[in-house]
Amino acid sequence: MCRHLAYVGSPVFLRELLVDPSYALVRQSWAPRRQQHGVLNADGFGVGWYVDGFDEPARHRGAGPIWADETFADLSRVTRTTGLLAAVRSATIGMAAGRAAAAPFRSDRWLFSHNGAVEGWPEVAGRLAWGLDPGVLARIEAPTDSVLLWALTVDLLRRGKSEEAALAEVLTRAVDAGGGRLNLLLTDGHTIIATAWGVSLCWRQLSGGVVVASEPFDDDPAWVDVPDQHLLVADTREVNVERL
Ligand code: GLN
Repeated sequence: MCRHLAYVGSPVFLRELLVDPSYALVRQSWAPRRQQHGVLNADGFGVGWYVDGFDEPARHRGAGPIWADETFADLSRVTRTTGLLAAVRSATIGMAAGRAAAAPFRSDRWLFSHNGAVEGWPEVAGRLAWGLDPGVLARIEAPTDSVLLWALTVDLLRRGKSEEAALAEVLTRAVDAGGGRLNLLLTDGHTIIATAWGVSLCWRQLSGGVVVASEPFDDDPAWVDVPDQHLLVADTREVNVERL
């Protein structure tokens, strides 16, 4: 299982959220505190962030551990953003390795990550992908459950579904196909949408922003746990959590 985090709000340096806090994502890659499946998130990492004047976010991903990536260290030191999504990966047994399998996945203005595993993979892939344009399937980046869940989400978003409706529908579909741990995280740089389904998830208001993460990055009492089987929608004004 992996760890992921998204933020929207007033400008922050990447390192303020991903490196500096006592239990930040970089530290969670070797010492997560709430992870129940896997203990090391060293099979890849990624960070996507929004840049003023560009609809499509920038992204930096790697196939190895985040702590060993010199470019990440530099980028996080000098890059300021109003929205980001970052993840560290512990590959599920049997899934593809490499940078293409590391979140965040990106399409148009969206960034996406999946924390968990689809039960019965790869046998259930056919059931999950049923109805998806073969042209879309031919272009998926890597043969993993997360990338297929992202392809399904993009398909719905491009048909005009709202972000909440798209995530809820993909989740229902994955549950019908066999279930599993399905914490999905999506942002367009202004709103964060996330599901808690079998894995821990929490959020916290920061001054001028909101962060949603697999686990708290510090011991501040402001962190709020999202109950299992719930959908969260957050922006700088409000956070809504409802049952799926
Ligand atoms: N199953 C996904 C993968 O292998 C997500 C892994 C995870 O959450 N650890 O990439």
